[in-house]
Amino acid sequence: MRWALVGASDIAATRVIPAMRAVGHDVVGVLSSSAERGAAYAAENGIPRATSSLDDLLAWECDAVYVSTTNQLHAGQAIASAARGKHVLCEKPLAMTVEDAQAIVTMCAQNGVVLATNHHLRSSAVNRKARELVLAGELGDLRAVRMHHAVSLPERLRGWRIQDKAAGAGVILDITVHDADTLRYVTGREVEQVTAVSTSQEFGDGDVEDTAFCVMLLDNGAAALTHESFAVPHAYTALEIHGSAGSLYIRDALTQDPDGEVILRRDGVDHVVDPGSRDDLYQVTLRAFEAAVRGTGVPLCTGEDGVASLAIALAALRSSQERRPVAVSELLEGTDR
Ligand code: NDP
Repeated sequence: MRWALVGASDIAATRVIPAMRAVGHDVVGVLSSSAERGAAYAAENGIPRATSSLDDLLAWECDAVYVSTTNQLHAGQAIASAARGKHVLCEKPLAMTVEDAQAIVTMCAQNGVVLATNHHLRSSAVNRKARELVLAGELGDLRAVRMHHAVSLPERLRGWRIQDKAAGAGVILDITVHDADTLRYVTGREVEQVTAVSTSQEFGDGDVEDTAFCVMLLDNGAAALTHESFAVPHAYTALEIHGSAGSLYIRDALTQDPDGEVILRRDGVDHVVDPGSRDDLYQVTLRAFEAAVRGTGVPLCTGEDGVASLAIALAALRSSQERRPVAVSELLEGTDR
């Protein structure tokens, strides 16, 4: 597959371009709003071309576009790409509003192109194993989930993420949206209501939240408790899933690397579970995307998943701002969902 990159981003340089090349895909060029930075980025990353014009980029010979600009740009760029017949892998959050995210889904469907959302945690072996065990009923009735996703924001990422509300700053659109998606994925359930409290502990000057605690109620009566933060330097990430017949403890479940240890605990006894092949998360996502383009599979995280997970994150934002529980349906009202 031949990819054009919309966004001269850190995530493309550090994770996605290496993964594209590892699975045998080509990168044909990159878009940056700055011609100078685009040229430098192309040279650094061995990319043949750079442009500042999305129109030019969409005229290049390529099969698919990877959108990894700041969040407020995703919808317009993804929609323009789909309109030109390009398959789209779009970074999370899919857009800044549910309406815009839904518009991407609609445009991709109308143009018969594949749309995937890059919620990479679905591609982790440990999370796939968790889903398999939960859906097979190994934990019995699902009762509770706890997600520990509090980290230290790397220095190189301390830009728009903590400063620019219009670009989608804040831990909720950055990390809570991932947790919402992972929760939906591992449980196979939908979130109905979110109650969230957020604060600024290290970054954001009180205007942008760097920490959030959420309680999410699922459609089967189970509840999830999540903690997202940019301001916790020494913790490991973890996912716990508790059912009537067993509990799963997964350490290092919420990282970008194929790490993690899965423990199934029953009657006070820990059993180590082999999660199977630990492939690079971004390569797993790209292989599924390629299969979807070839018509032999579906993306691991579809556009519809991106809309649903965004709605939960936006419900968390609204809840923390208005200090009340928010039904996810409030965010979906007036859309096609
Ligand atoms: P970056 O800040 O690296 O890049 C975003 C945009 O900022 C670029 O398109 C670029 O625009 C501009 N930019 C980047 N570096 C500089 C610079 N040094 N000087 C000036 N402008 C710069 O963003 P991230 O890679 O952190 O995030 C991009 C998207 O990917 C976001 O939507 C984020 O949520 C998502 N993401 C997803 C991850 C995942 O694992 N799924 C992980 C990390 C991020 P331009 O070239 O036009 O100036």
